[in-house]
Parts: sequence; structure tokens; C-alpha cells
Amino acid sequence: MTYDASNIFAKIIRGELPAHKVYEDGQALVMMDIFPQSRGHVLVIPKAQSRNLLDADPAALSAVIPLVQKVAQAVKQVTGADGIRLAQFNEAPAGQTVFHLHFHIIPVYEGVPIGAHAGGRADDAELAALAGEIAAAL
Ligand code: AMP
Repeated sequence: MTYDASNIFAKIIRGELPAHKVYEDGQALVMMDIFPQSRGHVLVIPKAQSRNLLDADPAALSAVIPLVQKVAQAVKQVTGADGIRLAQFNEAPAGQTVFHLHFHIIPVYEGVPIGAHAGGRADDAELAALAGEIAAAL
């Protein structure tokens, strides 16, 4: 399977579509998932083009994991989550729906079941507020 630059995350990286951005530099973009599985669900997206982990440049992976850690720490601090789940799907049968590599940072709250993958859309004002708080904690 080859990378298709018309995917929605590539459009967001190019600035063609809006996002609740948490952080951005030359290598990566961090944004709120608009169909969150829990409050504070964030996506870390390397800008380098790959469909997923399987075709990614190891150098791009090396560069992004410290950011994944930093964002996970900030998300945990801001949300007060009891734990953080890191998820990453490779190809449609495994649950991937957007074919540009990304890492899900999903806060887990004691006693609260995680919501469905790509379930209900969250309130934009709440997402914007969370994005600002997580950005400030980075
Ligand atoms: P995956 O199934 O791993 O490919 O995850 C794609 C994720 O992107 C899902 O959790 C969706 O909720 C999320 N998503 C889809 N479209 C958008 C968007 N425009 N902005 C933010 N998150 C999105």
C-alpha cells in the first residue's frame, strides 16, 4: 500500500483543514481527537509521510517518541487521568481509519470505560479549552 497525500491528517498538516492544535514544530503536529474515546484524547502526528508504523522511516519514529512521552505527561497532568493508554493502528483490519501515521494518547479514568474508537464528536469549545491547557503544560 502506498501513501496517499489526500488523507485528512495530511490536509490538516498543510493547513487546508482546521484542527484543535496543541503543539506544532517542523517534525510533528499534536491535536485533539474530535471523536475522543475519553476526555483529553490527543493525537501525535509526525509530519513525515507514511501510512503507519509499518512503512515509517525509523529516524522519524525515533524523533517522535520523546514528543509522545512529553504530551502523555502533559495530558495526564491536565486531565487528572489515572493512566494513559497509547494506541496506534496499522491498516484497516487493525482499526486504522486515517492513513497517515499517528499515535493516540488516551487518558484512562479509574472506573470509567473507554469509549468506542472514532465514536461521538466532542464539543468544540471543550476541545479548544483542553488544547490550550495541554499546550500550557508542555
Ligand atoms: P485511526 O483509526 O487510528 O486511523 O484514528 C483516526 C482518529 O482520527 C480517530 O480517533 C478519529 O476520531 C480521529 N479523527 C478523524 N478525523 C479527525 C479530525 N478532522 N480531527 C481530529 N481527529 C480526527
